[in-house]
Amino acid sequence: MTRPWRIRPASYSTTTPTNANAAVAAGEKVLRPFVKIVEVGPRDGLQNEKKLVDTATKVELIDRLAEAGLSVVEATSFVSPKWVPQMGDAAQIMAQIHPKPGVNYPVLTPNLKGFQSALRAGAKEVAIFGAASESFSQKNINCSIAESLDRFQSVMDAARVAGIPVRGYVSCVLGCPYEGPTITPEAVARVSRTLYEMGCYEISLGDTIGTGTPETMDAMLRAVARVVPPEQLAVHCHDTYGRALDNIEEALKHGIRVVDSSVAGLGGCPYAKGATGNVATEDVVQRLNSLGYRTNVDLEKLLRTGDFISKYLGRPHNSRAAQQMHSKL
Ligand SMILES: [Zn+2]
Repeated sequence: MTRPWRIRPASYSTTTPTNANAAVAAGEKVLRPFVKIVEVGPRDGLQNEKKLVDTATKVELIDRLAEAGLSVVEATSFVSPKWVPQMGDAAQIMAQIHPKPGVNYPVLTPNLKGFQSALRAGAKEVAIFGAASESFSQKNINCSIAESLDRFQSVMDAARVAGIPVRGYVSCVLGCPYEGPTITPEAVARVSRTLYEMGCYEISLGDTIGTGTPETMDAMLRAVARVVPPEQLAVHCHDTYGRALDNIEEALKHGIRVVDSSVAGLGGCPYAKGATGNVATEDVVQRLNSLGYRTNVDLEKLLRTGDFISKYLGRPHNSRAAQQMHSKL
């Protein structure tokens, strides 16, 4: 086996944010712990929205999210437009966004062809994904978990040569639409470990169908933390049953300081009709603020960005924070 390698984004840090000095200068005596939010709305969110969003609107969404203080905005996916028509303009998006210094714009690259297109389009960070559920892997990408991880090896090799950091997603970590709640913590740990050993700098653990509870999150994280350091883990919770914030809070207790979320809760759930998708970034910011964590996100700017995209999609703004604020704004 080759020695593990790992490339981290230039600004990568979960403990000392770049503007820590600014916070001190602003008079904060005790620096509150920082939680990095990975905004996945423009990719994971929009990918599951039925209405096709034009490129200019996506670009405006991404720019506004960066402007609201989010330091990671997953921009798009370099996947065949035959599979995901919503992501057919990936290269145009990368060409048209206005990169903000200190902000990362990772993109999903399901295969080597996608990776090469992403590189040509100027992507500086990519993401790959594996499932913790064998049935989910078979039904979604028509191969076993082991085969899917094998296929990513070529992406990892190319990324190493190009000096590109790779983030790894694991889906169905707390339940699967086909297998139900029977995914074992050990199965999640196995896939996480493989992605980590392949060279992913961060493993994002996805509760794809939102069936997790703080208890199952706890059991799963205990198993995964034995094989991947918690500083290298993120949680990606869907709010299908309204439990995402409590599950995130559980993850914080395990030392996890990276949380994925989607502005306005963008994204439906293809497995539960009418259900909400990703946990709303607005709600995550609000909860983290109330728990005494810093995110560096301007909640008001974020809420306006959520309004902007919700109006465009003709759907309600799926965040509790927005529903509370709207009586005031
Ligand atoms: Zn998601």
